Amino acid sequence: MSIKSSKIMAMNAGSSSLKWQLYDMPEEVVIAKGIVERIGLPNSIFTVKYGNKEKFEKIANISTHELAVQMLLDELIGLHILSSYDEIKGVGHRVVAGGEYFKESVVVCDDVLSKIEELAALAPLHNPANAQGIRAFKKILPNITSVAVFDTAFHATMPEENYRYPLPNEYYEKYQARKYGAHGTSHYYVTQKASKILNRSLHDLKFITCHIGNGASVTAVRNGQSVDTSMGFTPLAGVMMGTRTGDIDPSLIPYLMEKTGIYSTQEMNNIFNKKSGLLGISGISSDMRDIIAARKEGKKEAILAFDMFANRVKKYIGQYFAVLNGADAIIFTAGIGENSAVVRSKILEEMDWFGIEIDESKNLPGVEGVISADSSKVKILVIPTDEELVIARDVERLRQALRTC
Ligand code: AMP
Repeated sequence: MSIKSSKIMAMNAGSSSLKWQLYDMPEEVVIAKGIVERIGLPNSIFTVKYGNKEKFEKIANISTHELAVQMLLDELIGLHILSSYDEIKGVGHRVVAGGEYFKESVVVCDDVLSKIEELAALAPLHNPANAQGIRAFKKILPNITSVAVFDTAFHATMPEENYRYPLPNEYYEKYQARKYGAHGTSHYYVTQKASKILNRSLHDLKFITCHIGNGASVTAVRNGQSVDTSMGFTPLAGVMMGTRTGDIDPSLIPYLMEKTGIYSTQEMNNIFNKKSGLLGISGISSDMRDIIAARKEGKKEAILAFDMFANRVKKYIGQYFAVLNGADAIIFTAGIGENSAVVRSKILEEMDWFGIEIDESKNLPGVEGVISADSSKVKILVIPTDEELVIARDVERLRQALRTC
């Protein structure tokens, strides 16, 4: 390990969880990673994985994000992963919504933090939690470089014709009602990686990137830049997801409000965000593994949920083929995209007219890289995403550039 290497933490804070990875940079080596779950609930679960497949787990009552960060740092010292707090030179935080303020990663100064909190309307489940994680680290390690990396930043290159909604202008001007997209860090990472795998410059390439996990989005990428993406003002839009509807006719909202008598916007939001998608249709689960298992048993609702899911992704691929005038590669990533050969096959079935031919002998569980037939005009790639690495790289870049508040 080089003497100049520094330890950088990549954080992903949820409302009751903190996911983290500790890197040696610039070597990009993961030294340890883990998660604190059930923060604020009884019996929080604290897990660290490190070294040669070693694992440390502890159950404790961790009531706040700040206590979670404190415990994390203390345990890293206790496990001899760190010798002191000072070894950590920077921390990067995933932030879901950057709105129109943030088009790239930034050092977190006070005004940045208040803007992240102000943007809670765009990501009500995520931004307040992201801000809590940032505050917790700032309190305990106030002097290290703290960087916010936004899920929306990669989509800042979308042209206005793609990010505007056909609503009266004033709603954009007064309330910034527009498409922001999400999963940008992941779409960016797989785009970069695909250019290396194909050994071609990003500037010559057109991609359709499919980040399909519990949340799912599809992006059209030209010259390494996002041109259009399926998620919208919030991560509810686009393809069907684990518990989210994806695109629907907006007139269904007032219609269902009247029919059900549910006039609470919060409750309606909850139905569209948490009770729909694979879960809503199957009535079984939001988890694709459960859907696939139930489909195998011939359960009608699971078959429908599976078919609807694949069909929604296929339709976005079709749209983006038109937007980009073809594509050099279709990329699959995230939980379902990386792991499910059967979902990939279903999405791409009968698309040979487009020059898309999957090679089923390559499309296997656990595969990485090219899964298209040699004769396929469009390459099909499976690329495990690595948002944490992008975060760590951005922290290191801004730290080396001596960016401070
Ligand atoms: P993510 O949000 O990226 O963690 O992805 C979670 C989704 O990936 C869940 O729907 C999981 O069921 C799905 N997933 C993970 N592994 C597999 C697998 N081997 N086959 C099918 N789906 C999977």
